[in-house]
Amino acid sequence: MKMWQLIVVSIFCLSLSSCFEKVVEPEDVFGAIRRGETYSPASEMIDSWYAVEAIDAQTFAINEPKSSQYNTSYLIVGNERAVMFDAGSSERPAGSKSMRQVADLYTDKPITLILSHFHYDHIYDASRFEGGVTLIDRPEIRAGVKNGLYTISALESVDAEAPPLNVAGFIADGDVIVLGNRTLDVLNLPGHTTESIVLIDRARNQTFTGDFVYKHLGGIIAFAPASDFSQYKTNSNRLLHSTNADTQFYGAHGIPRFGRDWVSLLSSELEKIVSGKPEYRYVAHYLIPGMPVRLQQNEDMYIYTTPLVDPPLFWSKWALLVVAAFGTLALYLLYCAARLFFVAVRR
Ligand SMILES: [Zn+2]
Repeated sequence: MKMWQLIVVSIFCLSLSSCFEKVVEPEDVFGAIRRGETYSPASEMIDSWYAVEAIDAQTFAINEPKSSQYNTSYLIVGNERAVMFDAGSSERPAGSKSMRQVADLYTDKPITLILSHFHYDHIYDASRFEGGVTLIDRPEIRAGVKNGLYTISALESVDAEAPPLNVAGFIADGDVIVLGNRTLDVLNLPGHTTESIVLIDRARNQTFTGDFVYKHLGGIIAFAPASDFSQYKTNSNRLLHSTNADTQFYGAHGIPRFGRDWVSLLSSELEKIVSGKPEYRYVAHYLIPGMPVRLQQNEDMYIYTTPLVDPPLFWSKWALLVVAAFGTLALYLLYCAARLFFVAVRR
């Protein structure tokens, strides 16, 4: 390669790298908790993989502190039935207990499996629940059920296609699940994904939010084609209206328990994004190698998005980079043409 070509390439690469900040280090992802540590003294390792916190005598946070995303699933027990909310991260070592086996340690009631959403890190042991999975009632999901089976596609899981799941039934937005002495209100809150489910136990003032909102793990992510900011904003308000100042929220990643202030902050930051007044930073990849992200940050609240989400389809900075690439190419062609011209003139 000639010296001038090296200089052009170097300048281009430098301008590219200056578009990113490296804020996505492990400490940004985990905050005060370290991977492998439990988040509170009330959470105890029950074996080498799972840590369980009894939130109360019938509510269990089943955490995977060694998983790369610090996942938490919830077992919500009534005196007649129980709900398992999520089925594990897919990172448990071979030979370790399945989420189903862990649930059996805490209840002998029949278990209804509900997935907070279909991303790969929440569904791993779903096929171990022989009673099947109860799905959110949405037309596209009903249409996907074939012979009583639903297969979570690679696009839905953001990973490989999952094994087919027995469909036990459907729950719709607004339904109330009765577990005997305990009930759960069902909300379908699109935003992170269209099928995202939030469960509310009004009597105990507990709200299980899945990935719709969680605390830490670096922040909230809306990164897949099924993420939608305007719905996210609308539904964060709906979640605020469906809960109150004393509600305890339980998310599926990072520090499981958080308060209403965190949901309010999510809502106000989403408002900035939706109203076109965000203060974006451009950062090196988060979770997906090579996938650049745009970050809206306010103190501990980080909201990451990729070019797959959020109109305009092309972020202004990416549009500039495309222009830079074509500009560099155009300059090179101009140089070649000029060289040919001067060689011809000299002759
Ligand atoms: Zn997710």
